[in-house]
Amino acid sequence: MIKLKLFPVLFILISILPACGQTKTTKQQTDKPMNENTKKKPEVLVNKEELKQKLTTEQYNVTQMCSTEPPFKNKYWDNHITGAYFCVVCNTPLFNSDTKFDSGTGWPSFFKPVTDSSIIEIKDTAYGMVRTEIQCAKCHSHLGHVFDDGPRPTGLRYCMNSASLNFIPIEIEKK
Ligand SMILES: [Zn+2]
Repeated sequence: MIKLKLFPVLFILISILPACGQTKTTKQQTDKPMNENTKKKPEVLVNKEELKQKLTTEQYNVTQMCSTEPPFKNKYWDNHITGAYFCVVCNTPLFNSDTKFDSGTGWPSFFKPVTDSSIIEIKDTAYGMVRTEIQCAKCHSHLGHVFDDGPRPTGLRYCMNSASLNFIPIEIEKK
């Protein structure tokens, strides 16, 4: 009798297990944090096919697939030239060099964006961690993450991917 009762339970468990495994490995899972949490539609709509032509593979993977470039092997982590950093996808000004600091992480780090409205914050629970993802406010490209262990005056560390940024040695007018 006990064996017979267990049968339906086992059957249910067996049918559920492959389904759980599947959701963890699908490609959709990678895109989920961006699409699910981004409530507002981007002002600048990107054509993915055109972007693939315009950007390098690394720039595309970072900005559109939330990938992370390697530390110390990227374009701007050690850039000390005065200028501004723009979104590589839509050219929105994002960070000024006077807010850049050496975080020791090997990624370009800033304590403040150009304006609060240049970026948006998204709760990111990927890889079993709770982090705050930073996206470009205009086109919703992935830029990096923000942490609360930065220097004064904000105490924030905007840890960015060089692949999301385009540096131009000009100063942006302060608002
Ligand atoms: Zn953008």
